[in-house]
Amino acid sequence: MARDQELYDTVEVAWICILPCEFDAAKAMLDERYDDVTSKTGEKYVLGRMGHHNVVIGFLPAGSMGKAPTVRVAVKIQLEFRNIRFCLLVGVAGGCPDPDDSAKDIRLGDVVVSEPKGNRGGVVQVDAGKKTHDGFMIFSHLNKVNEELLFAIQLLKSEHRGRSRKMDEYIDEAMAKSRDHPELAYFKRPKPETDRLFQIDYPHPSHAPDCRTCSNDHTRERQPRKEVRGQREERPRVFYGTIGSGDHVLRSARERERLSREIGILCVEMEAAGVLDTLPSLVVRGICDYADSHKNKEWQPYAALAAAAYAKDLLTYAQKAAPAKVHGTHCTLGTIQLDEVQRAFAANPLAFREDLKKLGEAMSDTSLHFSNQRLPLFHDFLRKHGLPHTSHWVSMAHRNQLFDGYSADSARATRDDRQRDPRERLAAARAFAFICANRDSFATTYLVQDTVLRMWNYVESR
Ligand SMILES: [Zn+2]
Repeated sequence: MARDQELYDTVEVAWICILPCEFDAAKAMLDERYDDVTSKTGEKYVLGRMGHHNVVIGFLPAGSMGKAPTVRVAVKIQLEFRNIRFCLLVGVAGGCPDPDDSAKDIRLGDVVVSEPKGNRGGVVQVDAGKKTHDGFMIFSHLNKVNEELLFAIQLLKSEHRGRSRKMDEYIDEAMAKSRDHPELAYFKRPKPETDRLFQIDYPHPSHAPDCRTCSNDHTRERQPRKEVRGQREERPRVFYGTIGSGDHVLRSARERERLSREIGILCVEMEAAGVLDTLPSLVVRGICDYADSHKNKEWQPYAALAAAAYAKDLLTYAQKAAPAKVHGTHCTLGTIQLDEVQRAFAANPLAFREDLKKLGEAMSDTSLHFSNQRLPLFHDFLRKHGLPHTSHWVSMAHRNQLFDGYSADSARATRDDRQRDPRERLAAARAFAFICANRDSFATTYLVQDTVLRMWNYVESR
């Protein structure tokens, strides 16, 4: 397909995966799949929509894995898609569980998400190249995880504590899809008895191709998971913390225990190091084994699916537009393309300016109910000036948009003061909506206010 620059510029999320099952899981999460694209230099990408984000899925050439090829994919995506804001590394990893600690009682099929804790940056490079007689040595703490995503994580966490989780639905949907697509049938959850955590001093016999002959007498005893929300079926639990990234596959229970004990890592993988220094990233890993010598691949597809479902759930909490990115006329003002605004303004400068001012006043007027009074005004404005209606206007704002130093009280005072400049009132109204939404942990509709304010500033600057 020919390069569609406008489409490319709407892509703000890179999603990188390694294994074929991770790639299948990513595709299964797409709400809409656009035509696949090939870059000038021959890389193939899958493009599509997940929730309100356009996503590019990059994958490694068959057979390659590890840091260097993954960084290459990340760099190429960044060159090709100039509005990429962050990257999700979504796939499987080896878990580092501690059955005696409920905060680390990780099971197969669970999901681990990189999140800074204390002085740790979310991902720690454990480098086999620096191997000492004690095992891995910590090489470095990698750049902190993307701030914006951390904010989304906080919102998602509080949502997960409350009502049912969207990620469970995404898993179920993907499994239901496999009825029509037999090639996806491998996404089923393996039987619980296949999840065995062997004792550290019980290595896998080197000649045995799988764990069929490995004895249950040498497994760690673990409490069965409690039912959650009355569901008998096992659901992945989500753990947040530090992920270890190394150059080699870890196949040692002893080493795993050491990393868990000394660095507190929850799982180990091989790709995150490098990408985190290339693009702001978040690492989401489904646990498919316990990083010991007992390797089996049975849990890989399900673990990949669980990680992908979490990542999709998270995306719905990440803000859509990239206000700070300006590339020619393809910058978005909140959610409306700058060149569309330019056209509308040029077609009718006086009416546009006047309507915009009225709209700004209405958007800060709290006596009007948002959904059935202020929002229709916004839509009328879009229609009148031939601006494309977009379904993406309801979204979360970034932490940085709590600008202007408002507190809830000062925001309310400014907003209600009719003597003030309407733009200032609009900014206060937006800050107030942000503060309330943040306090109550739910998404709100103030990005509309943001869009109006940006449009206003833009037009004034012409
Ligand atoms: Zn075994």
